[in-house]
Amino acid sequence: MLYIGSHTSFLKDKQLLGVVEESLSYGSNAFMFYTGSNQSTLRFPINEELTKKAHELMKENNIDKNNCIVHAPFIINLANNTDKDKYNFYINFLKQELKRCIELDIRKMVLHPGSYTTLNRTLGIENIANGLNIALKDIDGVELLLEYMSGKGTEVGSSINDLEEIINKLDKNVKDKVFVCLDTCHMNDSGVDLKDIDNFLEEFDKKIGINKIKCIHINDSYNEVGSHKDRHANIGYGKIGFEKLIKVIYNPKLDNIPKILETPWINRNEKDAWAPYKKEIEMIRKEEFVDYINL
Ligand SMILES: [Zn+2]
Repeated sequence: MLYIGSHTSFLKDKQLLGVVEESLSYGSNAFMFYTGSNQSTLRFPINEELTKKAHELMKENNIDKNNCIVHAPFIINLANNTDKDKYNFYINFLKQELKRCIELDIRKMVLHPGSYTTLNRTLGIENIANGLNIALKDIDGVELLLEYMSGKGTEVGSSINDLEEIINKLDKNVKDKVFVCLDTCHMNDSGVDLKDIDNFLEEFDKKIGINKIKCIHINDSYNEVGSHKDRHANIGYGKIGFEKLIKVIYNPKLDNIPKILETPWINRNEKDAWAPYKKEIEMIRKEEFVDYINL
């Protein structure tokens, strides 16, 4: 079964209810959102009534909460611990975000593993595993999904090996709570040609286990395979192209895993900016590309 949706906005006045309404307007049966700004740790309280109404609306429309995802803010960086206060702040903030997931009854959260900056890859991996061990120790009922990254700058998590090493360093009871979120743009930019998705999945299964994949971000990329750039393009308008993305989306090994679009809005810096998701979801369901931007 295809579960497809997009990034959506979680705003103060409508919160999760607004997210569900927005998703339904795109024809989605899955979704993702940040519980506040993705660049800051400012958070408004969650309104119980709006959460309840949102879950009712999800039920009425057959949206299973297991296909819905929260994204942790970008600023959390567990890979560098040179400033101990900052490192501890990020661990505590991650814990708070996980608790917000429980409050919202959305039980999956995606996290960028982090950038080691002034350290090195080995220390970065150790710091991430250590941070997760602390943050997840006493929190049950939320799955933490480490995102596969493009390898921009000093990012950790841009290979199966990076993710495997992090997961192998986790405490037993934490390991069961940690999963992976793939991202087609990041995979392409990290050096994976998506025409070889089956080889990638085979290696992933051997090293980590394919059942650890709990979400896939579906994005085209402005850049070539191995560019380490991370610039998301609209579906069919980038260097990956529509056909390869469709093969990933409909790969039988990835069936039933929620697929989330994080593609840029059209005319995004202008007054008439609009979300591409309804169009992209239609094309994906029909498996047919339409040049809707230039029509
Ligand atoms: Zn992400």
